[in-house]
Amino acid sequence: MKIKIIPCLKDNYSYLIIDENNNSACVIDPGESTPIIKFIESNNIKLKYILNTHHHFDHIGGNKELKNKFGSIVLGFEDDLNRIPEIDVPLKDNQIWKAENFVSKIIHTPGHTSGHICFHFFNEKLIFTGDTLFSLGCGRIFEGTYEEMFNSLKKIKSLPEETKVYCGHEYTFNNLKFCVNYDSKNLNLQKKSNDVKKKISDGLSTIPSTIREELDCNIFLRANDLQSFTKLRDLKDNF
Ligand code: ZN
Ligand code: FE
Repeated sequence: MKIKIIPCLKDNYSYLIIDENNNSACVIDPGESTPIIKFIESNNIKLKYILNTHHHFDHIGGNKELKNKFGSIVLGFEDDLNRIPEIDVPLKDNQIWKAENFVSKIIHTPGHTSGHICFHFFNEKLIFTGDTLFSLGCGRIFEGTYEEMFNSLKKIKSLPEETKVYCGHEYTFNNLKFCVNYDSKNLNLQKKSNDVKKKISDGLSTIPSTIREELDCNIFLRANDLQSFTKLRDLKDNF
């Protein structure tokens, strides 16, 4: 399996996970269709599945057009059937979804939205975290409680350390500034800071990260209790 990062809209990331044996692919969170169509057509890819982490427009905006054009099958959380357009396959928490050579565990991670899910491709050791976990940050809490978000992040934290993290936005630089501000003595963070700045100045994506790097550097994952997590989330909202 190969991952292709496709920037969408202002700072969103869509991803293709491509089975190199047959050029079949899944797209994760198509915020818009145009850049995805362009890549698919110029690389002879068969877009079989559309995977949505949550219902926000910047993650589903391309669903309808891609489905119409390629006949792709749309997947989303069962509780969001009425707000993710075109769902064909409703997903449940902890379900293992399998199709062709694609195998993903569905992890319900409420907090940003009540129906947010992450797709854990455990065979390939990678996870698509949407707007729950960002590199060096986490999503804003729109529909859930602080406790729900804290528990959702706990689920992601427990995955194997080498797991690669593919999140929904390029927010890393802003998140980095916040982490450095409140965790200035963290040596791992200083190293990560150099990596991130180098990638940005080279015009590269800062994604993927890994669970190990996030455990070491992401101040929201380093918060050990709900109270400190809540305080940090509030500070970040006004940063
Ligand atoms: Zn969102
Ligand atoms: Fe988003």
